[in-house]
Amino acid sequence: MEILRTAGEFRAWSRKTRLAGQRHGFVPTMGALHEGHASLLREAKRRADVVSLSIYVNPTQFGPSEDFQKYPRTWEADVATAEREGVDAIFAPQTLYTPDSITQVVLPGWNAVLEGEIRPGHFDGVATVVAKLFHIAECDLAVFGQKDAQQALLVRRMIRDLDLPVELVVAPTIREEDGLAMSSRNRYLSSEDRSRSVVLSRALGASVDAWKGGETSPEKILAAGWRVLGGTPPDSVDYFTLLDPDSLAVLDARATLEGPAILVVAARYGSTRLLDNAVLGNVWA
Ligand code: AMP
Repeated sequence: MEILRTAGEFRAWSRKTRLAGQRHGFVPTMGALHEGHASLLREAKRRADVVSLSIYVNPTQFGPSEDFQKYPRTWEADVATAEREGVDAIFAPQTLYTPDSITQVVLPGWNAVLEGEIRPGHFDGVATVVAKLFHIAECDLAVFGQKDAQQALLVRRMIRDLDLPVELVVAPTIREEDGLAMSSRNRYLSSEDRSRSVVLSRALGASVDAWKGGETSPEKILAAGWRVLGGTPPDSVDYFTLLDPDSLAVLDARATLEGPAILVVAARYGSTRLLDNAVLGNVWA
């Protein structure tokens, strides 16, 4: 397994593999790898001949009061995971920006809704770093997790709008045994909050069950989840709502659900924010 530290090294490695006729699958991450990331690596391996993984805690997607400094960095364990999963190359740059970088990729709609609204500038940082990584990686396909559904929708739209030559694969969310979506940030939870946080996946499950039972009213689908959330309330809920995956609009509670939708939740336990979601219908087709 190669460890590449500069954009030039990573691009040269990618070009060499593609010249040899190999299909290159790429998995971008911020490290602190867990089983969710490992599942993305396995998905890339199934679909490509060589797999690369980037590990880069991207400063531009963190707000000034967010956890950039204390974001977990677990280099040795990450290298071991990559080895175990048969990764061919890790791209781990010191930085991806020159001090005078100013160019950004901005998807205006994403800044107005949910994560974009709550974390100003977050999606500009994500879109810009993913565009940079795609240009450096020159990969055939990239695997992202449904866990960050708004991010995956953003990447899908950016690829389409900018004609980026990358196939997007969105892989399912991997969960702990009790249903909590795996996340590098789960380690911040106290043991009491860790037990309480199982309510998020249960609330999503209750809404999904209502939808599976034929319910088409967003209001009633959401009410089924809110009832569960209310039983073990998080410290606060930033949102628990339904999104249209194409327009990214929050669905009108009084409308009728017609096409696929994404049920998204963000909640806080102390200073830790947890995200989760469930798809209703074939969102990624
Ligand atoms: P990050 O955790 O921000 O480094 O995410 C890197 C990639 O892993 C993103 O595409 C995430 O959506 C994905 N990811 C994070 N957690 C999970 C999970 N529990 N299951 C599947 N994919 C995940």
